[in-house]
Amino acid sequence: MLLRYRFRLYPTRPQRIALSRAFGCARVVFNDTVAARRLAHAEGLPYPTSATLSKRLITEAKRTPERAWLGEVSAVALQQALADADQAFRNFFASLKGRRQGSRMGPPRFKRRTGTQSIRFTRNARFEVLANGRLHLPKVGDLKVAWSRDLPSKPSSVTVLMSPTGKYYASFVVTVEDGTDFPGLLADPEAETGIDLGLKDFAVLRGGKVIENPRFFARLEQKLKKAQRALSRKAKGSQNQAKARLQVAKIHERVKQARSDWIDKQVKTIVAENQGIYVEDLGVKSLSRGRHSKSIQDAAFGMFLTRLESKANRAGRTFVRVDRFFPSTRLCSACGALTGPRGLEGLKVRAWACGCGAFHDRDANAEINIRREGKRMVAEGHSDTRNASGQDVRPGTLGRPGNPRKGKNEEPDRSRSATADRKPGIPAH
Ligand SMILES: [Zn+2]
Repeated sequence: MLLRYRFRLYPTRPQRIALSRAFGCARVVFNDTVAARRLAHAEGLPYPTSATLSKRLITEAKRTPERAWLGEVSAVALQQALADADQAFRNFFASLKGRRQGSRMGPPRFKRRTGTQSIRFTRNARFEVLANGRLHLPKVGDLKVAWSRDLPSKPSSVTVLMSPTGKYYASFVVTVEDGTDFPGLLADPEAETGIDLGLKDFAVLRGGKVIENPRFFARLEQKLKKAQRALSRKAKGSQNQAKARLQVAKIHERVKQARSDWIDKQVKTIVAENQGIYVEDLGVKSLSRGRHSKSIQDAAFGMFLTRLESKANRAGRTFVRVDRFFPSTRLCSACGALTGPRGLEGLKVRAWACGCGAFHDRDANAEINIRREGKRMVAEGHSDTRNASGQDVRPGTLGRPGNPRKGKNEEPDRSRSATADRKPGIPAH
C-alpha cells in the first residue's frame, strides 16, 4: 500500500523565496488549467486535452512576457500541477457519474494565495534525499529536514507544503508491504470487535465498551467558531483581516493535530487488542444530522477509519467495512427482525425492546450486528478485495510537527486503501 510520511522542513531564507516562487507558479498553472477548461465548457468547445494545455499553458506561456517567470521553476513540477488539475477534473466527472466513493464532489476550484501552498515533485523531477539527510529539490536547493523516523523505501514523490501559518512540510509517498508491522496473531479467537460509530459517543466496541468523544472536540469547536466570526467581521483586504485569518488557521492547525494524535492512540489500542475489526462504512450517520452540523467529530470519523484500515492491514489483521445500508441499528441481534428504531426520531432512542423479548442498548446491539455481518462477509469471501484504482495522491492533512514517536507522522494514502466488497446479507428495508 502507499503511505505518506510527513516531516517538518526548515528552509533557509533564499530557499523560502525559491519555494514561494514555485508555489506561485504551480498555483498559476493549476488555475490556468481550470480556467481554460471552464472557458471551453462555457463556449461549448471540446474538452481540451492535457497535452494541448501543457503546450499552451506551460511551453508557449513561458515565451510571453506575462508568464516568462514560469521558466524559473522546475518544469516537471509545473507539469505536475497541470496533471493535478487534470486529476481533479477526472475525480469530479467520476463523482458525477457515481463511480467514485464518498460524498459528491464539486468541480475543481481556483487555488488561493491564502490557503495551503503546495508543489509536487515526482521521481522524474529528480528530487533526492541526499546522504547528508537533506532534501534536494531542483531549482530550490538542499533543504533541512527534521527526520523523525526512517523512510521504509525510496519515495516515489514528494509534496512540499506551506501551511497558512507559515510552517513547511515534506510529504513523501512510499510503498509499504502489508503485514510489515505484523505483531503475531492474537491467541484469543474471540479477540474481535465490531465498531459502531456513535452519535453521542465516538464509537461503541464489543461488549458495549465506549470510546467517548474527547472534551477538546467541543472546546476547540467553540474557539474555532468564535475566531471565524471575528474574521467575518473584519474589513476585506485589511491588516486586521490578515491577522484574524492567521488566528483561524492556527486554531485549525491545533484541531488537526489534537485530533490526529487522539485518533492514533485509539487506532493503536484497537489493533493491538483485536484480530478481526469490523466497521460500518461511513455516511449514514453523519448525513443524518444534516449538513449544518458537520462537526469535528464527523471529520474525525473519516480519518479514524482510514488510519484504522491502514494500521490493521500492516499488522495482518482482518479489516472489513460493512455496507453503509446494512441496517445495523434496526436489526434485533437476538431474533433478526427489523424492530429497532428508525429514521430521524430513532436517533434519540438509546435502548429498545424487541417483540421477541430481547432488550437492547441501541449501540451495543449495532456493534453485534456489524461484527456478525463482517464475519459473514469474510466467510463468504467478500472481503479483502483490493481497490487498486485511482491515481490521485493527495497531500493529506497538515499541521503536525515532526514527532519522534514511531508511526506518528504517517498518513495512509487514501486513494489506494483496501475496501471490502459491498454485499449486505439483509436487504435495507
Ligand atoms: Zn428480536
